[in-house]
Amino acid sequence: MRGAVLYAPGDVRVEDRPDPVIVEPTDAVIRLSATCVCGSDLWPYRGVEKLDGAAPMGHEYVGVVEEVGGQVTTIRPGQFVVGSFWASDNTCEICRAGYQSGCVHRVLMGSIGTQSELARIPLADGTLVATPGMPDADLVPSLLAASDVLGTGWFGAVAAAAGPGKTVVVVGDGAVGLCGILAAGQLGAERVIAMSRHAPRQELARRFGATDIVTERGDEGVARIKELTGGLGAHSVIEAVGTQESMTQAIRSTRPGGHVGFVGVSHDVALQGDELFFSLVHLHGGPAPVRQYLPELIGLICDRKIDPGQVFDLTLPLDQAAEGYRAMDERRAIKALLLP
Ligand SMILES: [Zn+2]
Repeated sequence: MRGAVLYAPGDVRVEDRPDPVIVEPTDAVIRLSATCVCGSDLWPYRGVEKLDGAAPMGHEYVGVVEEVGGQVTTIRPGQFVVGSFWASDNTCEICRAGYQSGCVHRVLMGSIGTQSELARIPLADGTLVATPGMPDADLVPSLLAASDVLGTGWFGAVAAAAGPGKTVVVVGDGAVGLCGILAAGQLGAERVIAMSRHAPRQELARRFGATDIVTERGDEGVARIKELTGGLGAHSVIEAVGTQESMTQAIRSTRPGGHVGFVGVSHDVALQGDELFFSLVHLHGGPAPVRQYLPELIGLICDRKIDPGQVFDLTLPLDQAAEGYRAMDERRAIKALLLP
């Protein structure tokens, strides 16, 4: 099969890789209908995250089940399935509490690499959710978004306690931040303020339900949020970047008693204890338990109530994955969809 491999910063190649096979009796093998490049793939691509030799890339996936292991009982060949970037058993105590990304048996799909024609999915019964029948082709990008960016934005909004009567601020205008805007609206937020300085992203933010756009960043951005919220700060802030600046901006934009949902993969962020102490904010975040939300998100997508697939503004054949990485790295594209 063909699959993307990162050899060194900036050097992604699509090459022949061995076809995956059933290794554990709980595995499935799927044929991908679509896959994509994640903002988090850019960390190793840019050399910020160190590479330990050539690495298969990709952790977002939707596709059709080809084969299942002997102990798989609910997933069957021929089903169209969506799964999360963490494979999880969905039965352990952590999973049952809704934190499948902390499953005691979890497997990171990025270690398998799903920017490929085929992929092995561990813990298939717990990880995969089948759609009701074969989805229309135009729903595939939205279902793919559910695999990571939508589920992650959704968790950010839930962790930030977005809901009726709340003002929600979203720090970060990448695909996750944009999906956080959509999620905040779906959860009933009264006002959703997007922090973005890029016109095409502002436009999509509005389509996803943003009521206000703030272009300032850092201390100026915080001052602007205070201005818009009667000097108090927002009830809920979704942090979808993962840098010191974005996390500081998120905490300082939150009112006392408010909630920060942080879902940007944290890179060299250090929080100052005394500032945190006096901020009186709730902090909740981490790798999103996307699996928890998949049945609900698949339902919303298949009923055409939400259209998160709009985050894909570039579609390429899998063999041109390198151009997808370049376009996202140079911010020419929000998110690149790859067709195997
Ligand atoms: Zn588990």
